[in-house]
Amino acid sequence: MLVLFDIDATLLTTDEAGIRAMVEVGQRLHTPGFSADGVEFHGRLDPLILADMLAANNIDPTPEAIAAMREGYGRALAARLAPGGISQLLPGAAELVASLAAEPDRMTLGLLTGNFPETGTTKLQAAGLDPQQFPIRVWGDDSPHDPPARDHLPGVALERVSRVWGRQARSEEVVIIGDTPHDIACARAHGCRVLAVATGKFGRDDLAHADKAVETLGDVEAVRRWLMQ
Ligand SMILES: [Mg+2]
Repeated sequence: MLVLFDIDATLLTTDEAGIRAMVEVGQRLHTPGFSADGVEFHGRLDPLILADMLAANNIDPTPEAIAAMREGYGRALAARLAPGGISQLLPGAAELVASLAAEPDRMTLGLLTGNFPETGTTKLQAAGLDPQQFPIRVWGDDSPHDPPARDHLPGVALERVSRVWGRQARSEEVVIIGDTPHDIACARAHGCRVLAVATGKFGRDDLAHADKAVETLGDVEAVRRWLMQ
C-alpha cells in the first residue's frame, strides 16, 4: 500500500510562514503594497498560488515573474523557519509516519503536496521530519499538464510507485491523507482512498465526503487500523 501525506495542516503547521514569506518577496520584488488579499491557499499548488498572487496585485504572471517569486520565496521561507519551533508537527504525525515506516514490506510512504520541492523540504526538516522517509515524493510542480492541477498528482504517484514495486500499482492500493476538499477531490479523481484530517481550515463536516474524517491523527492506532483495512 502507498500512503501519501499532504504536508501543510496535515503533517505540520508553520503558522502561515509560507504566505508571509510570499508576500514579503512580492513587496521586495514588486511593490510595497503587495498583498495576499483574495488569494486562496489551502490545499492548492504553489505555482498556482504565486500566479494568482501576482495577478491579484496587477502583475502579469509570466513564467519569469513566477520563477523570480519562487526563488525569493524559497530563501525567505528558509530564513523565517530557521529560528526553530515555528514549523511544528501536528498530533500523531511523527508517530504515524514512524509506525508505517516500520513495515516497509506492506507500506510505502509518500508525499503529495502543493509545495515546491525546496519549500516542502524546508518545512519538513524545520519540523524534524526527514523527507527521505517518504520514498515517493510528488510536489506542487510535478503536474504533467498545463495548467497544473492537484488532480493530476495521484497519477504521478501511481506511476512512480509502480516503478518502485516493479508492477503496475492499482489506485485502490493508494491512500491520500490531507486536510482540505482539494485533497479529497484529487483522490476521488483517481479512485484512491482518502482520509481527511480536520487540523487545518476545514472541520470534519466540511470533510465528511472523505472515506474517513478525523479531528487529528493523534489516535495513531485507530488510523493505522483503518489504513490496513
Ligand atoms: Mg494541506
